[in-house]
Amino acid sequence: MTRTLAEVAAEAATCTRCRLAEGRTQVVFGVGNPAADLLFIGEAPGFHEDRQGEPFVGAAGQLLTRMLGGIGLRREDVYITNVLRCRPPGNRDPLPDEIEACTPWLIETISIVQPSVIVTLGNFATKFVLDTPRGITSMRGGVYGWHGRRVIPTFHPAAILHGGGEKSRQFLELQDDFTLIRKTLDAARAPVEPVRAAPVAVDPGTPVAAEDEQLELF
Ligand code: URA
Repeated sequence: MTRTLAEVAAEAATCTRCRLAEGRTQVVFGVGNPAADLLFIGEAPGFHEDRQGEPFVGAAGQLLTRMLGGIGLRREDVYITNVLRCRPPGNRDPLPDEIEACTPWLIETISIVQPSVIVTLGNFATKFVLDTPRGITSMRGGVYGWHGRRVIPTFHPAAILHGGGEKSRQFLELQDDFTLIRKTLDAARAPVEPVRAAPVAVDPGTPVAAEDEQLELF
């Protein structure tokens, strides 16, 4: 039986599947609309997120909130989470075994929210979701299929802040990516025109293939 996000978050709150449990203030599970069409995946909680228990509340989060506003969305309209639910000490990069231990929480989150569009913020989330060695600079600007969903990789907002800021080429590309997010979301929401096909004779004994078998995974 499918659990609610609140039930999963309550269980995750006492998670000790990896070493990050020792140093965290609290588990940062995710925030937003549990039935959102659009889900964001960042890297891991930072200092402010660890303190407040909510993803993307620091400077990078404020930029994310502004970018959302630019395409007519509020934080409450989307769901925001991370590859890791606990802050790595000193904001170091996630380690492979930490990512592996945390993966079931992310998979269960996606399977409950059922977003049609997923945005991966930065290298870690993009490599994790799309299982690619390619960096974010070469991946961004495109829409990729993944388990029946559309994935749009873009820069991590912290990379913009630590890079050239809002005067940089990356910031212009981030804006382009948010325009692409809006268009992709609108296309995913558009009602599908009914197709009037001529009836086809089907042998009643023939098993019908699932529309997208991979959806069963999530
Ligand atoms: N950076 C992330 O990747 N996630 C957060 O929640 C905050 C900063």
